[in-house]
Amino acid sequence: MHMELTDEHRALQQMAKDFADKEVRPFAAELDKKSDPRECFSWDIVKKGSALGLRTLAVPEEYGGPGVDLMGQVLVMLEIARADGGVAKTFSQCWKWTPMITKLATEDQRERFLKPFMEDDTYLLSMGGTEPDAGSDNRMPPPDYPKAGWKTAAVKDGSDYVLNGLKHFIANGGVSSLYIVRTRTNPDVPITEGTTMFFVPKDTPGFSIGRTHDKIGWRFYQNAELIFNDCRVPETNILGELNKGKGASSERYVSFNDVELASNVLGIAQSAFEHALDHARNRIQGGRPIIEHQAIAIKLADMHMRLEAARSYLFKTIESGEHESAEFESSSKQLMKVFATEAALKVTRLAVEIFGGSGVMRDAPVEKLLRDASIFPHLAADSIMSLRAAAKLR
Ligand SMILES: Cc1cc2nc3c(=O)[nH]c(=O)nc-3n(C[C@H](O)[C@H](O)[C@H](O)COP(=O)(O)OP(=O)(O)OC[C@H]3O[C@@H](n4cnc5c(N)ncnc54)[C@H](O)[C@@H]3O)c2cc1C
Repeated sequence: MHMELTDEHRALQQMAKDFADKEVRPFAAELDKKSDPRECFSWDIVKKGSALGLRTLAVPEEYGGPGVDLMGQVLVMLEIARADGGVAKTFSQCWKWTPMITKLATEDQRERFLKPFMEDDTYLLSMGGTEPDAGSDNRMPPPDYPKAGWKTAAVKDGSDYVLNGLKHFIANGGVSSLYIVRTRTNPDVPITEGTTMFFVPKDTPGFSIGRTHDKIGWRFYQNAELIFNDCRVPETNILGELNKGKGASSERYVSFNDVELASNVLGIAQSAFEHALDHARNRIQGGRPIIEHQAIAIKLADMHMRLEAARSYLFKTIESGEHESAEFESSSKQLMKVFATEAALKVTRLAVEIFGGSGVMRDAPVEKLLRDASIFPHLAADSIMSLRAAAKLR
């Protein structure tokens, strides 16, 4: 494998590292401990990152952004996630949905939504799909139950659509300015044939935020319920085509997903490894630093091996161009994400072990990293759905 970083990549990496060291790491542990999940978030961090271009990183130059390529995005993510995975994901959630606005939206929609996104340091993006009764079924609807999947309805009324339903777990929920919402415009057919996406700005009448979910980890990252109660949006807010909001025509714009999640969780795991190495060099037991005991050295070697392997797999996926395939069934990039997640779970658990009893105390740096990594098997197409897809199971 031949992976050359450009000067631009290195400059981005350094910028992200400086931001993470100065603006994220000093506050991450304190924010994580807040009992109200809404208080784990910091607008100050968002604004400072935004001012550096982190929110709009993926916007192509032709639309006024820096047009950072995927490798650049991954390098930035690895650095910020080393300080806090939730902060990194808050920004990258915007990179993920940027193509929906720049490539799929109409010119009128770009004027209404891309313009404020570029100008306002607090303008974040969300995508609402999951509902209390529709999770995995949105990803791989069961063939013997064609109506499975989201139920949130959008019914035409004059030149408007009226939305009713409930989404949950939605990322950046409660802090986003713009929500892309997947609705049923035809409830009598499979979601691949009857789904339409709508832009729903946060202040749309009939739209409100319900609970903010209280997660065990990744607490900076906000996840909330979206409530649609006779929420009226103009027909001109349809994103893409009517009834084509699920499937190849819409999904080719979100191919970033697996690469995004893998780089985030590997940033978290890298941090766990560094903390464990430092602790092992400085903690004296048995008359010497514990790193000199074979059992600890082997654990560190095991962690290093898994991190190296997962990073190589990630970079290989980028280099091979596999990340560009958004076809759910056809890509091995999902396996790469599962591999990275499993590696990170093992690495963060070993880090807690190397810390001994202090590893499970709330003031140790590593217990948060184990909790943060624990979120990843449940994201997007969760690990089981990713393996099912790769195995082409139905
Ligand atoms: C932190 C976080 C952020 C999220 N952000 C978003 C977001 O921004 N937007 C959004 O729309 N959603 C979001 N989600 C939702 C996420 O996509 C779903 O949680 C995920 O798709 C799983 O759905 P579920 O939770 O309903 O689990 P279920 O579908 O209820 O699955 C439960 C278990 O059963 C297994 N399972 C389900 N069906 C099958 C099957 N057919 N065969 C074998 N095993 C099966 C699953 O693998 C899982 O282990 C987020 C979730 C989390 C945790």
